[in-house]
Amino acid sequence: MCPFYYVKIEPMSRNLYPRDYVDSTYSIDFKKLYEQGYRGVIFDVDNTLVPHNAPADDRAIAFFKELNDIGFQALLLSNNKEPRVKKFKEAVTYCSYIYKAGKPGKAGYEKAMDQMGTDASNTIFVGDQILTDIWGANRAGIRSVMVKPVLKWHEEIQIIFKRFLEAIILLGYRVYTIYGKEINKVPVK
Ligand SMILES: [Mg+2]
Repeated sequence: MCPFYYVKIEPMSRNLYPRDYVDSTYSIDFKKLYEQGYRGVIFDVDNTLVPHNAPADDRAIAFFKELNDIGFQALLLSNNKEPRVKKFKEAVTYCSYIYKAGKPGKAGYEKAMDQMGTDASNTIFVGDQILTDIWGANRAGIRSVMVKPVLKWHEEIQIIFKRFLEAIILLGYRVYTIYGKEINKVPVK
């Protein structure tokens, strides 16, 4: 008997689809999510909160204050280097951070939840890239929210290349949502 007969092949594409796809981090209704029982939010930084490598602006600073007022724990999970992430954290105050997070690996997400004292059932992830942010959050079993990049065409060339792959995946995602199928396996409150 062929041993591969027993290997259950998971369709990888479903792990690449975000649970939610919205225009902007700043358009998400966090009060409602808190009422639904979510307590921690993990954020990608570049192009999720501000343009790539841009400093924290007034909107981001006010946003983290508001999240803290609602009662959320927040954490920045970035593949970028420490000086970039630390400086951003210091500007917005109400969060912790993990740099060189190794997304889409699961370890960074798990460490993030440990630090916040939350788990996969009450944590949300917000990011702009499928092949790092969303894939990793789905693998960690966290509700994944994809946002459109703050500033799309001012990115490094390898990110622009990934955007083409993302466009293909998002096409599949749209077909999936049109037909009303379960988007990914992460349970939603
Ligand atoms: Mg990003």
